[in-house]
Amino acid sequence: MVIGVLALQGAFIEHEKMIESLGVDCIEVKQKEDLENIDGIILPGGESTVQGLLLKEYDMLEPLRDKINNGLPVFATCAGLILLSHVIEGESSPYLDTLPVKIKRNAYGRQLGSFVINKKFKNVGELPLIFIRAPYISKIDNDVEVLIENDGNPVAVQYNNQIAMAFHPELSDKNYLHRYFIEQIVTPSLKLAV
Ligand code: GLN
Repeated sequence: MVIGVLALQGAFIEHEKMIESLGVDCIEVKQKEDLENIDGIILPGGESTVQGLLLKEYDMLEPLRDKINNGLPVFATCAGLILLSHVIEGESSPYLDTLPVKIKRNAYGRQLGSFVINKKFKNVGELPLIFIRAPYISKIDNDVEVLIENDGNPVAVQYNNQIAMAFHPELSDKNYLHRYFIEQIVTPSLKLAV
């Protein structure tokens, strides 16, 4: 198995370390040819406007969208979630537009600053959920599954082959959610133990 990590901008090296800690190979995706021969892709946090612009400039937006719509497993964090979303509040058009959710950019950041929530999970105990100027998921379609909630709001969601979260699991020292992504590629029927 080979996982591609979109490496145009943002916190991609931290994701590579997580994937390697699971004994899985990864490559950096920097051009559209890199999208071939990968079994899944990670869209890292960073600055979604810059990442979106670079995806367009390098002719990667449409090939990546097609691959995701055709079932390529995706694990998206923060800016990555923004790139996937159908609707970005206050902006006229989306980027990849594959995930039926509505989000508000920098929503947690402006109101609350960056923060960490410690959330307890079955089997592994507490994990830190690290929010950095995070997008707020304001609406989800009926068939989008909520994986993790905070104060009644979804902060991690799954829609078939797409897993997306507002926070940064790659900045913690726990690879639980990356492991779930790898497990999903092998066994999509498996559920996250929360
Ligand atoms: N605020 C960023 C954006 O809109 C996302 C923040 C992050 O990835 N930590 O792109």
